[in-house]
Amino acid sequence: MDRQARRTRGSDDAAAHVRRKETRAVRPAPVRNEPRVKHAYEKKTIALVYDFDGTLCPRPMQEYAFLPKIGVDAKAFWAESNRIALEEGADPLITYMHLLYKKAKAAGVRIDRDDLVAQGRKVELFPGVEKWFDEIDAYIQECDHGEHVAVRHYLISSGLAEIIEGTTIYKRFHNVFASEYWFEAYDLPYPKRVITDTGKTQYLFRINKGVENLGESINQHMPENVRPIPFSHMIYFGDGDTDVPSMAVMRKNGGHAIAVHAPGKSKEKGTELFKAGRCDFFASADYRRDSELWRRTCLLIDRMLADIRVEEEIWRLGREIERKGIA
Ligand SMILES: [Mg+2]
Repeated sequence: MDRQARRTRGSDDAAAHVRRKETRAVRPAPVRNEPRVKHAYEKKTIALVYDFDGTLCPRPMQEYAFLPKIGVDAKAFWAESNRIALEEGADPLITYMHLLYKKAKAAGVRIDRDDLVAQGRKVELFPGVEKWFDEIDAYIQECDHGEHVAVRHYLISSGLAEIIEGTTIYKRFHNVFASEYWFEAYDLPYPKRVITDTGKTQYLFRINKGVENLGESINQHMPENVRPIPFSHMIYFGDGDTDVPSMAVMRKNGGHAIAVHAPGKSKEKGTELFKAGRCDFFASADYRRDSELWRRTCLLIDRMLADIRVEEEIWRLGREIERKGIA
């Protein structure tokens, strides 16, 4: 396949990827601003939202295949990227996305969209991550008292959507919001979407409001009572300072946050976030059933399941009064 054909195919794949995710995302979201008659209580979805680097996998995802392929030392790369961003007053995320390909070009290595997806297969995950999603889904089913509470897993990452697509857990996410490239615009791939630390919070609101189609504006006012997934039904998982804006948004809006640290490594960041009230809990990034992380996550889930039952009963009572009046 010649280069042009590969580019076109890559670009079509990219467009298809976005369309697929958007279509999937739009379908289940019961978002309406206008009042309508509801026959069943609808807010019975729990959302678990994850950061990727340092949270689900030990190292930045580019370090598993991209940087070794172009012969660049990871530590030196991030140091150079941060130095350039600082000197130029540039956004650190745009800077790393640009520098990555500048280095690849200098090394004479062409890496297209398919190559990035293939790199995803090399990404290492923390213990238990691959089974975590099924185990959590099963736990909720076991403990929801027949209420049919749904669970969705979301990923919000400043890393690359293409690499995430190649990982074994990609299919487990209801939606993936990550930085992404245009591959056909110029000689070097050009950032299409850049998800910064503060930018991540936009996606929390998209999940909260059910506005996951990126073509739709998130800024339109939507009363709390019509938002399909209240923050109180959400848990955010992150590993450090880059997650502070997301954790702050979660906690200020009645949601939950858990900070993780690499197993056997320092708990200093988690302790700091916990003391500052950024997270409900912190734990080692051990996703196996019965780990500390599992136990603490399930504690929050237990509370959310109880809340959902209480909220549903209040909704039922309110609806009865609406129908029958005070008597
Ligand atoms: Mg992280």
